[in-house]
Amino acid sequence: MKTMYRSHTCGELSIAQINNEVTLSGWVQGIRDKGFMIYIDLRDRYGITQLYFDEENTPKNIMAQAQKLGREFVIQVRGIVVERASKNPNIPTGEVEVLVKELTVLNKALVPPFTIEDKTDGGEDIRMKYRYLDIRRNPVKNSLMFRHKVAMEVRKFLSDEGFIEVETPYLIKSTPEGARDFVVPSRMNEGQFYALPQSPQTFKQLLMVGGMDKYFQIVKCFRDEDLRADRQPEFTQIDCEMAFVEQEDILNVFENLTKYLLKEIKGVSIDSFPRMTYDDAMRKYGNDKPDIRFGMEFGELNSFAQHKDFGIFNESELVVGIAVPNGAEYTRKEIDALVDWVRRPQVGAKGMVYVRYNQDGTFKSSVDKFYDQDDLAKWATATNAKPGDLICVLSGETNKTRTQLSALRMELATRLGLRNPEVFAPLWVVDFPLLELDEETGHYHAMHHPFTSPKPGQLQLLDTDPGAVKANAYDLVLNGNEIGGGSIRIHDKDIQATMFKHLGFTLEEAKAQFGFLMDAFQYGAPPHGGLAFGLDRLVAILGGQETIRDFIAFPKNNSGRDVMIDAPAFIDDNQLKELHLKLDLKA
Ligand code: ASP
Repeated sequence: MKTMYRSHTCGELSIAQINNEVTLSGWVQGIRDKGFMIYIDLRDRYGITQLYFDEENTPKNIMAQAQKLGREFVIQVRGIVVERASKNPNIPTGEVEVLVKELTVLNKALVPPFTIEDKTDGGEDIRMKYRYLDIRRNPVKNSLMFRHKVAMEVRKFLSDEGFIEVETPYLIKSTPEGARDFVVPSRMNEGQFYALPQSPQTFKQLLMVGGMDKYFQIVKCFRDEDLRADRQPEFTQIDCEMAFVEQEDILNVFENLTKYLLKEIKGVSIDSFPRMTYDDAMRKYGNDKPDIRFGMEFGELNSFAQHKDFGIFNESELVVGIAVPNGAEYTRKEIDALVDWVRRPQVGAKGMVYVRYNQDGTFKSSVDKFYDQDDLAKWATATNAKPGDLICVLSGETNKTRTQLSALRMELATRLGLRNPEVFAPLWVVDFPLLELDEETGHYHAMHHPFTSPKPGQLQLLDTDPGAVKANAYDLVLNGNEIGGGSIRIHDKDIQATMFKHLGFTLEEAKAQFGFLMDAFQYGAPPHGGLAFGLDRLVAILGGQETIRDFIAFPKNNSGRDVMIDAPAFIDDNQLKELHLKLDLKA
């Protein structure tokens, strides 16, 4: 688009425009002042164009003006496109430069606190404080553009499939998704608070009752959780819901969406996604979001390792191992370091038994006193170990041991370079338990959320063995990350009431919090279900990066702060008063 500020962008000019007069605007990336000639790199979102000034061709006053420019000044120039004497093959505009005739300084700039280049000298904190400068850098700018592209493709696919994007409110009442709510005090309703949505869950279900049939929304969600690395208190979901569908229909639609994205964005074709039950995922990978780009599957060793003289294994609920490719070569020191690694408090294993599976087919283990070669051969078969591998074995309480071994598996895979970000291995994990026992309180809570439907025929089990009830709930997992999750919902008022009862709500509490939903179920709620993708993470994985922060324009730091605008912040007394709030900071 031509404007008075520019006829072209800084990424556009080539030999095709030689001798044309052009107008460009942008930021001064760098200046090389040789006295009688000056080169300036002019940058905008689209690229960099070299500007050229020399004593012979450039008016004196402009030459003098150019000499006074500083980094990040915003300037406009008019000039002629000429072929460069020494070309730069590394940038698209590298064959030409603009011989400047006119120069206007549109705005001056202070010296930026870090260099605005692909590799910057600015640390994370300073870049976040001046995020608007960070966004001028290619890595951040490209990530934001990449995110836009993914979002556009999502909208295109879903829209073509007949989904309608509907906005749902942000000022609502608590929706339990397992986190604390962010709340907003109401000025007009003294003592009352809105909650920001942890997700649009109840609204999208009400849209189904409203007959909207196929809904989606790229939407902000808010969860006041203790911040773990790479979590944001506000994040974006691709939230979806469909009516008159069963689980299979949903898996198909969203498998197709994911395939479409992998194809359009990464050029990767994947035929169909494997499906794994939650129980299998836990058994084989110790994790409900297994990274299946590599093997190292768990081998359970109870039947081979127990009932010998090794007390630690005999007392363990689970004895389980993995085979580390080529690990038999590890030195004693390296293995000791692994043992230390699993014993760190973050992992929490008590110790680790290991077996070297030598190239000559013999075994050498840390428990040779208790197990002979035949025993160890059985361990090797169970863990699928090959000669040259190292078998690492953990033991203890089932869930904990699985989590610990999963952590070790992921760590070793990272060290061994088995987690290639350009390889994509999606899968569905299905048949999640409906309820999860909270070890601290001894109460069950919904593993997904309270609106998730138990598997047909399992409702009765709720009374006798609640932990065994499976749900029509599923997660989409990509490269060891949960990128989406959802369920078939309860659409019957009585079943929903039963569910609330099992989750420890009294009838009154359930009515007060979710009466609107149960009321709606009485006016013809269709069978429905859906899921939500985490857009930030999806984009990061497709972009081959580990951190979601790079793909968020203005992210919060690990303490949930926006260090640029300095939020959260105190508000003044008048504002508190209007909101009928009183602070008691000592409490
Ligand atoms: N609302 C759910 C979530 O945020 C997704 C779903 O069940 O559709 O995880």
